Amino acid sequence: MARLIDGKALAANLRQSVSEKVELLKAEHGLIPGLAVVLVGDNDASQVYVRNKIIQTSQAGMNSFHNKLAAGVTESELLDLIERMNADPLVHGILVQLPLPDHINAEIVINSILPQKDVDGFHALNVGLLNIGMDSLIPCTPLGCMQLLKSNDEDLSGKNAVIIGRSNIVGKPLATLLLQENCTVTIAHSRTRDLKTICQQADILVSAVGKAHIVKGHWVKPGATVIDVGINRIKSETGKSQLVGDIEFAEAEKVAGAITPVPGGVGPMTIASLLQNTLKAACSQHEVRIPE
Ligand code: NAD
Repeated sequence: MARLIDGKALAANLRQSVSEKVELLKAEHGLIPGLAVVLVGDNDASQVYVRNKIIQTSQAGMNSFHNKLAAGVTESELLDLIERMNADPLVHGILVQLPLPDHINAEIVINSILPQKDVDGFHALNVGLLNIGMDSLIPCTPLGCMQLLKSNDEDLSGKNAVIIGRSNIVGKPLATLLLQENCTVTIAHSRTRDLKTICQQADILVSAVGKAHIVKGHWVKPGATVIDVGINRIKSETGKSQLVGDIEFAEAEKVAGAITPVPGGVGPMTIASLLQNTLKAACSQHEVRIPE
C-alpha cells in the first residue's frame, strides 16, 4: 500500500513557518507583506479559492486586500485597478483569479502586473527567468508539487518524470522544475499516443488534466510517486457531489510507492506556496532577507 503524501499537514507546517517569518519581519523591519486578490464575476469555484486565499493570508499575519469586480467590468477598468495596485507600497503581491470573462484578455492583464508583484508567477518575465534557471516567482501549484515530492524523496535526480497536461499554469512550469532537479521529463497531453505505456515508465507521475479517473491504477509503475493535481466534481454512487482527482486513487494506491489524495494533496500546498511567494515578494521589494 502506498504511503500517503499528506498535503494538508505539509501545508499547515509551511503556513506556520511563513507566519513566524512574517512576525520577524514586522518586529525587525516594520514590514507587513500584503497580498491583493482580484476576483471578476461569480464563478463558484473561483469564489471558494479566493475566500480560502484571503482567510489564509490574514491568518499568516499579512495584509489582505480583496477586490471583487462585476462580471461586466471592462478590460481597461481592470487594468486601471492593477496600475493602482502596482503603485501601492502596501501591496507586495497581486493575484488575478483565473479564468477571466471572455471579453477580457487574460494575457494582457497578467502581463500588466509588475513582475516583482506577480505572486502567481505567470508574467512573461517570470516564465522566462524560470526557464533559464534564474531566481523568479514560481507558479504556486508546481511549487507546491515540488515541495510534496521533496517531502517524500529529497533526491529526484535521474528519475523518469511524466507530467500529463501542458498548461502554462501547471504542466510546463512543473516540467522545468523537474528538469532542474535532473529528472528525465516527458510531458504528455491530449494528442499523446499510448498514454498508458508512457505512464507505466514513470518513477514520478503527475496528472494535471481535469478529467476524473483518466489515469488508471494499472498505468502506475510499482513503487512510483504519484501526484494528482486534478480537481473534478463528480456525483458519487449515492448521488452526492464529491471531489476527486484525475487518478483512480483506490487502484493506484495499491501499486504506487507514495501518492497524494484529492482533496488534501496539491490543493492546500498551492495556497501555502502563494503565501511563501508573497513573503518573498515583500522581502525583495524592500531589499531585506527572508527571515530564517
Ligand atoms: P488546462 O485545461 O489548462 O490543461 C489541461 C491539460 O490536460 C492540457 O494540456 C491538455 O492537453 C491535457 N489533456 C486534456 N485531455 C487529455 C487527455 N485525454 N489525455 C492527456 N492529456 C489531456 O488545465 P490546468 O489549468 O492545467 O488544470 C488541470 C487540472 O488541475 C484541473 O482539474 C484543475 O482544476 C486542476 N488544478 C488544481 C490546482 C490545485 O491547486 N490543486 C491548481 C491548478 C489546477
